[in-house]
Amino acid sequence: MKNNQVVAATGNRHKLEEFRAILKDFNLISQTEAGFSGDVEETGKTFAGNALLKARAVCEATGLPALADDSGLCVNALGGAPGVYSARYSGGGDKQNRDLLLKNLAGVKERSAYFACAIALCFPNGETITAEGRVYGRILEEETGVNGFGYDCLFYSDELEKSFGLASEEEKNAVSHRGRALRELEKKL
Ligand code: IMP
Repeated sequence: MKNNQVVAATGNRHKLEEFRAILKDFNLISQTEAGFSGDVEETGKTFAGNALLKARAVCEATGLPALADDSGLCVNALGGAPGVYSARYSGGGDKQNRDLLLKNLAGVKERSAYFACAIALCFPNGETITAEGRVYGRILEEETGVNGFGYDCLFYSDELEKSFGLASEEEKNAVSHRGRALRELEKKL
């Protein structure tokens, strides 16, 4: 890899920060810096399928190695929903997604859930490396903490024994689905 330069195929600033915090040996540039302004449609049925779609599209468009993730929240009582549809669950933004999740879990006692993340790294020569990670916990009855993004303030991590919304960036990265997938990817490189 030239100068270890890799394009982070995401428009999500939080994800880019998490990628950078963990993959310290890479020179991660944003897709905007790499001149990519398109939007890749997530038509895959699995996290790995969507991560590959995004990484391959940005790699082909920029001619640089590209790293993408696809992630989401899987709630057991909801049959694994919202899953790959986590970002689009309510049709609105993060707050509306959280409100819909709380509504769908109203009165439900069994609230176990996990975040899952698949990472794909695609190289211009067609080579691809993928990795996956999970973090287990449960869905809280109400929002707790303001850190992170998405469903963080509703997710109680069994390992941290607190909500991701109350966790520091370092604490979250140490156990998170994305942290685990990125470290797994590093091992494979
Ligand atoms: P995508 O991976 O960008 O397609 O979207 C994943 C969606 O899942 C995000 O929009 C969030 O709603 C949710 N999500 C994924 N990872 C996290 C996380 O670390 N914290 C909170 N929500 C997350």
